[in-house]
Amino acid sequence: MYSKILSLRFPSDIVNEPIVVNLVKKFDLTFNILKATIYPRKEGFMVLELRGHRKDYQRGLRYLKSLGIKVESIGQDIKRDEELCFQCGACTAVCPTGALYIKRPEMEVIFDRESCSACELCVIVCPARAMEVRFDRTLLA
Ligand code: SF4
Ligand code: SF4
Repeated sequence: MYSKILSLRFPSDIVNEPIVVNLVKKFDLTFNILKATIYPRKEGFMVLELRGHRKDYQRGLRYLKSLGIKVESIGQDIKRDEELCFQCGACTAVCPTGALYIKRPEMEVIFDRESCSACELCVIVCPARAMEVRFDRTLLA
């Protein structure tokens, strides 16, 4: 089973399409919507965990892109400022997906953006404010 957390940016002309339903029906995928803001006739934004067999996942992804949806790994929207991070490890205690973890024996705090779900817990706990969310927050207002 393949699983990935994605950010989807919808153009305004397709926000009323039953896209997520189609992902289930046509491509046999399951999903978990983590964040979403979609208004009629406006651009939409969604953070979605998509699960299924790898081939179905890739077919589903091609379907989304064919509709003009900009699809990215959500980790691309979370950034760590390496200058500010002082490797305290506080973020690893709250990260629910293991995207922030301590590599042993080096004791280095690693950020694996591919595993990030954009929950923002690390942003809250980081004493150095090294973790940044880059997606447009007004989209989630
Ligand atoms: S909490 Fe902040 S400073 Fe500490 S390791 Fe994580 S990102 Fe770096
Ligand atoms: S936003 Fe931070 S705490 Fe949440 S999954 Fe991503 S790295 Fe982990």
